[in-house]
Amino acid sequence: MTQSIDTRCVQAGYTPGNGDPRQVPIIQSTTFKYDTSDAMGRLFDLEDEGYFYSRLQNPTTDIVAAKICNLEGGSAAMLTGSGQAANFFAVFNICETGGHVVASSSIYGGTFNLLAHTLEKMGVSTTFVSPDCTAEELDAAFQTNTKCVFGEILANPALTVLDIEKFAAAAHAHGVPLIVDNTFPTPVNCRPIEWGADIVTHSTTKYMDGHGCALGGAIIDSGNFDWMAHADKFPGLTQPDESYHGIVYAEKFGQGGAYITKAVSQLMRDFGAVQSPQNAFYLNLGLESLHVRVPRHCQNGLAVAEFLEQHPKISSVRYPGLKSDPGYELAKKYMPNGTCGVVSFELAGGRQSAEAFMAALKVASIETHVADARTCCLHPASTTHRQMTDEELIEAGVSPAMVRMSCGLEGTQDLIDDIAQALEQA
Ligand SMILES: *Cc1c(COP(=O)(O)O)cnc(C)c1O
Repeated sequence: MTQSIDTRCVQAGYTPGNGDPRQVPIIQSTTFKYDTSDAMGRLFDLEDEGYFYSRLQNPTTDIVAAKICNLEGGSAAMLTGSGQAANFFAVFNICETGGHVVASSSIYGGTFNLLAHTLEKMGVSTTFVSPDCTAEELDAAFQTNTKCVFGEILANPALTVLDIEKFAAAAHAHGVPLIVDNTFPTPVNCRPIEWGADIVTHSTTKYMDGHGCALGGAIIDSGNFDWMAHADKFPGLTQPDESYHGIVYAEKFGQGGAYITKAVSQLMRDFGAVQSPQNAFYLNLGLESLHVRVPRHCQNGLAVAEFLEQHPKISSVRYPGLKSDPGYELAKKYMPNGTCGVVSFELAGGRQSAEAFMAALKVASIETHVADARTCCLHPASTTHRQMTDEELIEAGVSPAMVRMSCGLEGTQDLIDDIAQALEQA
């Protein structure tokens, strides 16, 4: 019988044996000892499973990756040093020079930069489409060299909701996987694999950690995408890897293991964006209470959004839990138990009044962060999205008067009182 997500948040990934530590042990070791060179050599050849160097694998990070894999309902998973590394690896693992990505335009600023600029320099091009595009517009974005589709379930900071089924259908019709960043809903509120996503990514820095203490990322493979059926598109998975004596990932590790094994054994080996065992330990502490914290973040988010919506100094509010929000119906479908604690809104007084409002807040603080136990807020146009042109800002759903507030776990009325007094001064 499958256990509830609550029990899995607390216990999945680690089952201690008799006399073992109850808490996940931090294996603070870069390296591992072997009796013979031959025994270690078999690990280098991916012939045996085991640990030899923590850039490739470490027992602590493996335990935490296994928990996240379980929560998302995947076949394999890995941790990375940050959410940026997770999204980079997730795309680059199947989309190299000459490849093309179809991406929702409503995504995190860092991921937009990654796709529009850095991957572009590496010879990977991206066509951005509005998350609200029609099926025909989406279809028209594909090219013969398209290797994947990318989107965020709940976009940071625009809070648009991705119609996962629409994007999955288009990706699959073109023989490529859908990669979705599930950072904001977390698997407590949405499990994208159940809706057709093939690969899921996370910035674990956000709700999963939840205490603002450890940067991290994760990639989860559903095991549902048949690489061999589209072998010509994905030679990296379906043709011999000369750096491992000619193994073919999709043959040796199967549909459920090929993608993550390749990402670890090639990309982590060569780029080295590892999550430390210490950070994985902190992440696991966050995961143990994720199912308790996320509903409370959502409760505060909804209350704040409802308060802002009726306030005369606020010209618009985006919170997909509000009935008036354009994403409400999609949110109800994909996230019936709630969305997240982040609310985006615009002050009627424009950019300056947004800045004055933020400076007057006492409970909420100004930070480049979201999804923390402490309420924080940010002015995207002058911070995370400042490299964007006005046109790009509007495409990404960000206006100059927009404030992004991440409601923490404080008392609901304290948050509302704080916002009310700051609006008086704005
Ligand atoms: C924060 C964030 C990222 C980047 O993650 P880091 O851990 O900061 O590198 C990627 N995607 C989304 C949706 C995010 O919110």
